[in-house]
Amino acid sequence: MTVRLRDSGAIVIGTGAGGAVAAASLARAGVDVLILEEGRLFRPSDLGGFVDAISDMYLSGATTVALGRPPVSITVGRAVGGTTAINSSTCFRPPREKVAAWGGPDYEEFVPLFEEIERRINAKPADVELLGGNWRVLKRGCDALGVGIRPLVHNIRDCKMRGRCAFGCPEGAKQSMDVTFVPDAVDAGATLLTGHSVKRIIVENGRAAGVAGEGPDGPFEARARSVVVAMGALRTPAFLLKQKLANSSRRVGKGLRIHPAGRVVAEMNEIVDGHIGISQGAFIDKWASRGVTLEGIFLNPGVMTTSLPGVGHELKDLAAAYRRLSAFGAMVSDTSSGRVIPGHFGYPFNAFYQLNLRDAHNLRFAVARIAEIYLAAGAKRIFTGFHPVPVVNSPESLRKLEAVRLKASDLEVMAFHPLGTCAMGADPRRSVVNFELESHDVKGLYIMDASAIPDSLGVNPQITIMAITMRAARILASKLK
Ligand SMILES: Cc1cc2nc3c(=O)[nH]c(=O)nc-3n(C[C@H](O)[C@H](O)[C@H](O)COP(=O)(O)OP(=O)(O)OC[C@H]3O[C@@H](n4cnc5c(N)ncnc54)[C@H](O)[C@@H]3O)c2cc1C
Repeated sequence: MTVRLRDSGAIVIGTGAGGAVAAASLARAGVDVLILEEGRLFRPSDLGGFVDAISDMYLSGATTVALGRPPVSITVGRAVGGTTAINSSTCFRPPREKVAAWGGPDYEEFVPLFEEIERRINAKPADVELLGGNWRVLKRGCDALGVGIRPLVHNIRDCKMRGRCAFGCPEGAKQSMDVTFVPDAVDAGATLLTGHSVKRIIVENGRAAGVAGEGPDGPFEARARSVVVAMGALRTPAFLLKQKLANSSRRVGKGLRIHPAGRVVAEMNEIVDGHIGISQGAFIDKWASRGVTLEGIFLNPGVMTTSLPGVGHELKDLAAAYRRLSAFGAMVSDTSSGRVIPGHFGYPFNAFYQLNLRDAHNLRFAVARIAEIYLAAGAKRIFTGFHPVPVVNSPESLRKLEAVRLKASDLEVMAFHPLGTCAMGADPRRSVVNFELESHDVKGLYIMDASAIPDSLGVNPQITIMAITMRAARILASKLK
């Protein structure tokens, strides 16, 4: 039997960077909000080991990929807090020129929203003491080369240096949505139902009128004056396409940007203990104008070992050298674009993404710059994730890495920032939602998540998602009232 949930002013589907801020902004403005979240609430005391976090908090146990050559691992969260519950807590405002290129609200309109969001989630440059040994190594290499490296801004409070931001913070130090905007929404009167997976939007007379789905007690239905979809840039388009909804522009699912990323691991002579401290601690933006940003990354032993080369004794020796490993990542502001379609065989979506040669060149350039910094810092060996030259241990091997003929499939690529699959814009023929994030086609249907950001940002996106959502939710609240 179908359970009828209570009627509300707005239903918000999802509690990530978009959904949580939307729900809190609506509820604080006096709208009666029902939040439906498929995942569960993880409190710090619920968090087990890394493997538990991967299987419980990541969608499909972190096996989600975008198909292409190379295939790209692209992970998202499934929990209260969405992907923010497992993200690295790095905060950037979007570049001004990117916001200007959207052709929508002025950057200045967002500034007070950035400030309000940053205050709420305590976004501040991390103390250097929290960055650990990885920072020490990178700083030495950068100083030798005259390259600037700075601590990243993080949304943390009383960080205990557990080095596991991306697996749920066991100290509750990360100020992700589950500990900030979701409780704010509930405090302002919103109802949060976890374990509720929305399957369908109910549309009546061209207006969104509610949702239907599966909950712990079986099928449910709920009615509302507006529906906010905030399922993330991979699931929102798959969900809409499956229902043939909001797609007169034929843009739903198209324009997928991901910030293709690479990872470089260096074997040092000294003890680094990179797992102690903020794993994504520092960044280098010297090459940002060409679309390349370098950001810290460090992984726990189990995950790190799977990304190291070699088998048998060779791999065993490297794993034993874990305390002497350092790692850094690279991210490209992509010009490649992919696509999302509904998933098959119970899979939540299918994504396709082909890295173009321009972005591949940028990613190799980024890997080479990190290798260069590690050589300057005195690394013994550097593992590049670039198949033709997997190890750099000298200026000659670095030159070879940069000179060899490049195929995109030679790069090991991962991604953490899907964007753009339901782009906002003024023209209903070229965009899915307007700048108030309402569907051009279905009144009362809003898309308030990473899908709406129309292009690559070149910086980590959570602050941008929160800001466009806060603005749109406040406009929606004023309409509902
Ligand atoms: C490992 C990792 C590290 C990252 N680090 C950073 C970082 O340091 N800084 C940064 O800015 N960004 C980072 N990101 C990206 C950032 O967290 C995301 O861009 C952001 O959270 C996306 O917000 P969203 O609202 O679009 O979607 P999400 O945060 O993914 O939220 C979507 C929500 O919808 C729910 N949902 C989906 N389908 C349904 C359904 N049918 N019914 C009900 N609920 C549903 C999901 O469970 C989830 O809670 C990282 C991402 C990853 C994977």
